[in-house]
Amino acid sequence: MPSDVPPSKGFSSRPASQAGREALFPSATDAEWTDWRWQQRHAVRNLAQLEKYIPLTPDERAGVQETSSLFRVGISPYYLSLIDRDHPLCPIRMQSIPVRAEARVRPGELADPLGEDKTRPEEAIVHKYPDRVLFLALDTCSVYCRHCTRRRITKGGEAELTKEQMRRGIDYIRRHPEVRDVLISGGDPFLLTEQRLEELLAPLYDIPHVEMVRIGTRVPVCLPMRVTDSLARLLRRYAPVYVITHFNHPKEITPEAREACERLVDHGVPVENQAVLMRRLNSDARIIQELSHALLRMRVRPYYLHQMDVAEGCEHLRTPIAKGMEILQQMRGHTSGLAVPHLAVDLPGGGGKVTLQPDYVVERGAQETVFRNYKGERYVYPEPEEVDCSCPYDAVWRERRWG
Ligand code: SF4
Repeated sequence: MPSDVPPSKGFSSRPASQAGREALFPSATDAEWTDWRWQQRHAVRNLAQLEKYIPLTPDERAGVQETSSLFRVGISPYYLSLIDRDHPLCPIRMQSIPVRAEARVRPGELADPLGEDKTRPEEAIVHKYPDRVLFLALDTCSVYCRHCTRRRITKGGEAELTKEQMRRGIDYIRRHPEVRDVLISGGDPFLLTEQRLEELLAPLYDIPHVEMVRIGTRVPVCLPMRVTDSLARLLRRYAPVYVITHFNHPKEITPEAREACERLVDHGVPVENQAVLMRRLNSDARIIQELSHALLRMRVRPYYLHQMDVAEGCEHLRTPIAKGMEILQQMRGHTSGLAVPHLAVDLPGGGGKVTLQPDYVVERGAQETVFRNYKGERYVYPEPEEVDCSCPYDAVWRERRWG
């Protein structure tokens, strides 16, 4: 990975993966280690390979065996090198190595927890919300996350879209002028070749009503060497392209990940983070706050903290709703607002996202509203006398606006 980006404050320039790399992949050259295709070719994909590198617990060994027909295992050498080989509750280990609980489907768990397949007019398109669509570009990832709620796709079988499926997806968007926002996901779109990515971005850019594109990716977390200058330049050409990444624990924010994120930002590509709250992995306000602070230091905005979806095999990682609220309450007021993510619940079965926050309103009246602040103190907000909130100039603005 070229290292022309100077580290931001608080980051070492020594790769976090160095010790793990020396222990696990001693013969890898610098050129190989920093080549994302080498990383993909050497990803660990089965029990025998995994046992070569990590002393598995009986629960993990059984987990790999019992989930083998349900969901892929795949861990890039880079991500593997960050695993604590001595501790099964290492957050990187918990996200990448299955345990037995994952093989059990509990009542109420869903294969398609967000109800995407019932709003899928084309193979590539999920159209659930009025002004935006999800574009499913492929079914492969650099690491198969044990909390993946789209595993019905990422377990394999859908593969990369054919040219025809991609064309039909783009045509669908062209025919729907209400679509102003396209979220490209999968699978991980950054595993596409740049040529293939451009075949998607270029026609979307040419559709006048598509105002922005977002790309959901865990590559900055699990395969940061994939974020090359050339990829960042490609994304910038089709601005506005937002990268939505997925760091869940501060341990994942390494100098390598920092370099990947800052390369995107330095090229004018904004990066936002969506974390998932997971029991015993990051279900603690201190951890989420450290994660948020580390994200902000590398200019990534902590955007959402997701309540775990009710997906098959994920119950052991789910937290009670109250835990997320408690975390937000412990953060709000104690750190900058930019560091406090929105707590979101994607309603099971396709109800869409709702956001939650601790309730600070004590009393609501016509004359005043009484709040309690983050310290529990009461404050009164007086209501104004005039309550007409219409905006008469808006009609003028809509008629005359430029651009
Ligand atoms: S990278 Fe995303 S889509 Fe792929 S396995 Fe992880 S959570 Fe699922």
